[in-house]
Amino acid sequence: MLKPIKRAVHFDFHTMPGVDDFGENFDASLFARQMKDAHVEYINFFGRCNIGWSYYPTKVGYPYPGLNGKNILGDVVRECHKLGIQVTGYLNAGVHHEALLRHPEWSKVNMKGETVDLDPQKPFNGNFFRMPCYNTGYADHLLAEIRELLDLDVDGIFCDCMLLRPCLCPNCTKEMLARGMDLSDEKQVTDFAEEQRRKMIRRIRETVPEDKYLFINSLPCPLTKDVATHAELECLPTADGYDRFVSQVALARPLYDTVVYMNGRFQCCWADFGGYKGKAAIENDFYDAIMNGASTCLGDHLHPNGMPEADIYRDLKEIYAKIEAYEPWTDGTRFQPEIAVLSTVPKLNQSHYGVGRILGELNYAFDILMPDGDFSKYPVLILPDEITVSGELREKLNIYLKQGGKILSTGTSGLMPDGSGFALPQWDFAYKGKDPMQIAYYKPTFEEKDLIHLPWECYEPGILLDASEEDTVFARHITTYFNPGYDGTHFNFYMPPKGETGHVAAVMNRGKNVIQVSFPLFKAYMKTFTKAHRILMKHLLAELIPQKQILTEDLPITARATLTKGEDYTLLHVKATYPEIRGTMGVIEEHNVLPAGRTVAVKGEFSSACLLPDGTPLVIADCAGYTKITLPEITGYAMICLK
Ligand SMILES: [Zn+2]
Repeated sequence: MLKPIKRAVHFDFHTMPGVDDFGENFDASLFARQMKDAHVEYINFFGRCNIGWSYYPTKVGYPYPGLNGKNILGDVVRECHKLGIQVTGYLNAGVHHEALLRHPEWSKVNMKGETVDLDPQKPFNGNFFRMPCYNTGYADHLLAEIRELLDLDVDGIFCDCMLLRPCLCPNCTKEMLARGMDLSDEKQVTDFAEEQRRKMIRRIRETVPEDKYLFINSLPCPLTKDVATHAELECLPTADGYDRFVSQVALARPLYDTVVYMNGRFQCCWADFGGYKGKAAIENDFYDAIMNGASTCLGDHLHPNGMPEADIYRDLKEIYAKIEAYEPWTDGTRFQPEIAVLSTVPKLNQSHYGVGRILGELNYAFDILMPDGDFSKYPVLILPDEITVSGELREKLNIYLKQGGKILSTGTSGLMPDGSGFALPQWDFAYKGKDPMQIAYYKPTFEEKDLIHLPWECYEPGILLDASEEDTVFARHITTYFNPGYDGTHFNFYMPPKGETGHVAAVMNRGKNVIQVSFPLFKAYMKTFTKAHRILMKHLLAELIPQKQILTEDLPITARATLTKGEDYTLLHVKATYPEIRGTMGVIEEHNVLPAGRTVAVKGEFSSACLLPDGTPLVIADCAGYTKITLPEITGYAMICLK
């Protein structure tokens, strides 16, 4: 039985040849001590890097030129084990320059026939300009390297960068031609490469014993759920944005028992040796982890000549001491979702990030499910923006609705893939085709706090939708005068709202279990963050969920609140910190402070509330099926235990 991963650190260590003082200051025993002092329990540590160098006396691979017989990984495993710290061996399965320089025949050949692509415009080309093909002798080489790491008594294997790229190498070409495939069709060639990747991952799974951790990085997490022992969500929000993690964790949570937020200490991105985003920024991201049911990992890059930066690990000691103090309550708790969001693709897109952003601001808790997930536990299912419905999914949604589930659908979701109409009779609206106008507006029909009445631009083109009698209309569709473009004299640039068309922009069926919005609201929200879109969504969700889990009218829109549940208690998490955007980057230098006296109401009757970990009691009051908790002053984050 594998232990849950807690308070982890991930070390990158990709070393160009020619570091003349390589390893001079490294001491495995001091390193293990430093990690122990920082309350670290689990480490991903390098066995073989992106360049292709091994950091132990390898028989099959290529030791770093200055390694001089040292066994860095082996020493680290031994010294960390003495202190009860687990160590998983890292290798880059998807990049290996040293092997390919010696075995060019192991290289992937891209669609242009190249084995090396130095185009500086491509992202990450600093590493990925040359990649191995798993349909060559490289596969056996990689497995031999993995077996060497296992012989060093590591607790698991971390395979990085197993990215999907098409390959026209002689082996792949020969097999694809034998199958009659079209080598000029990138989709067919990519599908074949995916088959080779699946085969490689299966062979890795067969090589790594079941009692060891195994993680395959750089694939959407649904694709590795049958092989990986846990999910590590790699996300550096200063580079990737702050909207990615919440949606990624929502997707991983239903699939894995252990989900780890693999954050980073860097100001920008990996390999940023001189960058440190600071303690408050790491804490903010780790609070996101805890309040979303994930554990924490800090990514770092060890200097080739020595030891981790002392000041950073002094900060981490304080951060991890706090997280450890919460663990008597957080261990074994489960995140409490109230909404499921459907994804038909394993890789999340802007619509999913838009759902995460809006539901976060409204403090609704959600999971993201693939079509084979179990919707029945969730009272509401969202079909975001472009989920067309047919076959098994159609039947599954039909049963879900008949069993009392409710669906909120936006954009072209709910339609049949051929666009001939809605897939299920519960959508008792008439589909009148795609809106011929690229710009449309809508006007809400309801009153809601802070809602300004004006024709609001959708910011994404949608469909034309007509309500039936007895349907409830929440917003009316408004068109404009022109489509953008040059008409021979003028370029249509100014396109004001023209007037109502009789079509609707948001409507609920007469059965009151399906709501349709006529435009891809979530994708549009990620583009413009239009407040009216959020207010519309708030109003629609209130129709479907009469009693949401947490009422947060008293909190600022930047705060987040979630619930996790233990055996006989519930944890309320409230986070006050959010990034300040400077230029295009969101870096957190200090925590925001929420003044004392704000309230949060949690559904259900609780007899006590106390602040953790010290147990300070908080004032509570019963309030129509909810327990209202008066919050203390909160600097950054607070965890409250409800019984
Ligand atoms: Zn190939």
